[in-house]
Amino acid sequence: MAELEIKNLNKYYQLGNKSKFHALTDINLSFEKGELVSIVGESGSGKSTLMNLIGGLDSQFDGEINITGVNLKNLSDRELDEYRKKKVGFVFQSFNLIPHLTILDNVTIALTLSNVRESEKIEKATKVLEKLGLAEQIKKKPTQLSGGQKQRVAIARALINDPEIILADEPTGALDSQTTLQILDILKSIADEGKLVIMVTHSEKVASISSRVVEVSDGKIINDQNKKGRKKKQSTNIAETKVTKNKKTNLSFWSAIRLSFHNMWASKVKNFLIAFGVSISLVSLILMLAFGSGLTDYINSLANEYNNPYYVSITKRKDKDNPNMPANPLSPLPFKTDEEINEIITDINAQLEKANNEYRISNEVVSYGFNQMTYGTSTTFKFKVDENGIYSDEGQEEKSESIFYIYTTPPYYTDANMLAGNISGDNEVMFSKALLKKLGLNNYDDVCGKVRLNIDIPRYGLNTKDIISQEQGLTGDPIVSGIIDVTGIFENFPVMYVSYDYLNKLVSYVDTEGKIGFRPTALYIKTDDEKTTEFINNYLNSLDYYSGSVEEQMASMFTQMISTFSTALTIIAGISLIVATIMILVVLYMSVTERTREIGVLKSIGARRKDIKRIFSSESLLIGILSGLVGIILSLVCGGILIIALKSLLGFAPISFRWYYFVIALGISIIISVLAGLLPASKAAKLDPVESLRHE
Ligand code: ADP
Ligand code: MG
Repeated sequence: MAELEIKNLNKYYQLGNKSKFHALTDINLSFEKGELVSIVGESGSGKSTLMNLIGGLDSQFDGEINITGVNLKNLSDRELDEYRKKKVGFVFQSFNLIPHLTILDNVTIALTLSNVRESEKIEKATKVLEKLGLAEQIKKKPTQLSGGQKQRVAIARALINDPEIILADEPTGALDSQTTLQILDILKSIADEGKLVIMVTHSEKVASISSRVVEVSDGKIINDQNKKGRKKKQSTNIAETKVTKNKKTNLSFWSAIRLSFHNMWASKVKNFLIAFGVSISLVSLILMLAFGSGLTDYINSLANEYNNPYYVSITKRKDKDNPNMPANPLSPLPFKTDEEINEIITDINAQLEKANNEYRISNEVVSYGFNQMTYGTSTTFKFKVDENGIYSDEGQEEKSESIFYIYTTPPYYTDANMLAGNISGDNEVMFSKALLKKLGLNNYDDVCGKVRLNIDIPRYGLNTKDIISQEQGLTGDPIVSGIIDVTGIFENFPVMYVSYDYLNKLVSYVDTEGKIGFRPTALYIKTDDEKTTEFINNYLNSLDYYSGSVEEQMASMFTQMISTFSTALTIIAGISLIVATIMILVVLYMSVTERTREIGVLKSIGARRKDIKRIFSSESLLIGILSGLVGIILSLVCGGILIIALKSLLGFAPISFRWYYFVIALGISIIISVLAGLLPASKAAKLDPVESLRHE
């Protein structure tokens, strides 16, 4: 059986819609191993067309091309890939070495596609390269070699899988006469060692060396000369060892990564710039998230600063009668009835029981007692200062100047919380530093025990001037007893503190006159330990209608604003990620175009579509990882600089990194790169090998 037998081969090229070009007509040829065949003929006569058909790069033909009796036409795509990988070796006029790989890697690439062990690859390639006189060159890149050397590397690559047929399309076309002879000698010795070598040439001299000359003209064989008779020698092959049968003979994932890495390294500036571009979006994303959580952390730390770990506060988030109107933390909703208070206390006690916590809240309202409840309230009112003192004068709008807040002193405030003076009792109030500042007073001594205050809240029917009650110990306008040290979220709020008892007396006094009283807006409960506090707080914060302290409500209001704000910024960062994705897509498309020839070479040595896809996909994966890492490093650097700058400007830096922000950024970067790589990779995989090889 002939090694290669061509029967009635016809090749048509489809031109446009209906017209066809008849490139090869009724070719009948038969070749044996050991032959060195020259195919000669004018340019355009169909020589390359014939070679591409024999080599399985083009499988569109009529007739038969039988390789040891098997028609190429009957092979599946996979079998055809396998045929190119194992049975034929290509040598091209323009060498077609892969520029970013070393000589060694260029030769071993065919083995890499078969997932051959590293040591075995190197051993084989070194042997072949040594025989071709290239032992010294294996670490070089193709650009560092002369034309003759390059062609010898290409021959080594063609031989590495020990194929039966070597196809060389004008292998000496780009070489001077001296090197031409060298290459011919090599091809001749390959034929002598028992392979079928088919070579396309223009040169008569080149043809004269071969054992057989086939002349093609206009797609027809016009001459077939057998000059020296067949020589057949089966023994020593240049590539001595047969390819070991590996179970998995495809390009492995790691080899694909390695190949892509080499390619990316070859254009490292470009790839680094892409990674930098993508990383800018990642940095903005990470910083937005870190800024959002930093602000939230900061607000929460302010809210918690004054929360005593042994006290629980209960405030209302919404009113059951009017759930669409959420509470404003600055004028909280009152507990309208005692039943309402009982209900929430009973509920919390039930939760404590469920959690096997022994602690229970007593429903009895007593001041400052263990596990007892204390009421608190707060409200706003308007005030005016003149030569006669400080007036709250809500009823007389024209005199009003500003707003401040009345808070009842929480039970856990002690003298330790005072900047000056004492905790207030009956006939006394306390000012916050911010209120003092607002009133234009700055000397504590001028205020404490001296300034009297006329509280006038017509809403409550309350005017301290009128309230003198021997029985209750009320003496009229209260005096400022001290300055309270308010830190945390309310630090800059002008607040006047009064004791709940005192306020209650004032109002109940008015009550007897038939005026409106007030209801508590906060319940303070002393607990047995921090765990109970935490448990109750967590429970309260999970509720729709109740929450913990006013500070917590305030914090959650701010937090909500911040999260809306940072969501908006994150969306902008997201849009920039879309831009980054498109950028990667464009760059990868360009990379496919740039590497079209390389893809053709890979296909000619048996790379499957899958392998090509894998090489390009791993390139996009690497870009994703690189961008992610650059993004993480840059955001740490930028974040660090921002923290230092904000600390020196504001005294605090609301930036908190969470480890998972980096994971998210890396994940997003990998996902967008891999997604962006899908289209270019499948475009690369679909390229026609013959066209790719012709690509300029
Ligand atoms: P040679 O290698 O002998 O110079 P080719 O085999 O490259 O010639 O080309 C043979 C003929 O087929 C030429 O006329 C060429 O224009 C034509 N041809 C080659 N490839 C294509 C193609 N893809 N589509 C249409 N015509 C083609
Ligand atoms: Mg040609």
